[in-house]
Amino acid sequence: MRLVLVGPPGAGKGTQAAMLAARFGIAHVSTGVMLRQAVQERTPLGQQARRYMDRGELVPDQVMVGIVGERIEAADAETGFVLDGFPRTIPQAEGLAAILARDGRPLDAVVNLVVPDEVVVRRLAGRRVCSGCGANYHVAYDRPRVAGRCDRCGGQLVQREDDREETVRRRLEVHNRQTEPLVSYYREQGLLREVPGTGSPEAVQAAIVEALGQATGPRATGRGDRP
Ligand code: AMP
Repeated sequence: MRLVLVGPPGAGKGTQAAMLAARFGIAHVSTGVMLRQAVQERTPLGQQARRYMDRGELVPDQVMVGIVGERIEAADAETGFVLDGFPRTIPQAEGLAAILARDGRPLDAVVNLVVPDEVVVRRLAGRRVCSGCGANYHVAYDRPRVAGRCDRCGGQLVQREDDREETVRRRLEVHNRQTEPLVSYYREQGLLREVPGTGSPEAVQAAIVEALGQATGPRATGRGDRP
């Protein structure tokens, strides 16, 4: 199964993509995670990307299509993938379509997680991320057992540089201008499934699975599943 998740920053794409990857046995490809790792490791890509990320701007399309094109060729993506945070622009979507057409691996569906702007700002301004394993928490809705420490790995919880309120508003503006047109692009191709992104992670997951035309219930095999 090959899926794309779109939606504003803070819509829950990361959480939902991780759940879908586990459910269907496919690779979770998050460009945000890949870029943050590159920044942390100070690779040439990281150094280039950081300038854009800190401002809440998008990293150039050509760079992004190159990274994702390489990533989805990896062995763990053979059974499929769920793209989280990519594509974010029409040129990225076209770049992806060209790669998938070349490989004869078309997308099965694009899920649009719909979340109002005020909910996005509340979620992101309170979000804390583990500096060790990347797990997400929230100061009000999802606190760790020990303040400031990750439940899973004990790592320190930090606020992402780009989750500060001013940058969140900038990211939303960028989303509305550059990413929102993707919704029409994929709707015209008959691939779009719109799902409300408000509600518990489990409820949103159930709604996505239903929108994909899959049975909710026990874990699916992932192989040969079609929406
Ligand atoms: P995310 O974690 O998906 O919100 O991504 C964090 C930041 O990484 C974004 O604000 C962008 O600066 C950059 N980024 C992630 N994915 C992309 C993409 N597909 N195209 C351009 N920039 C991206």
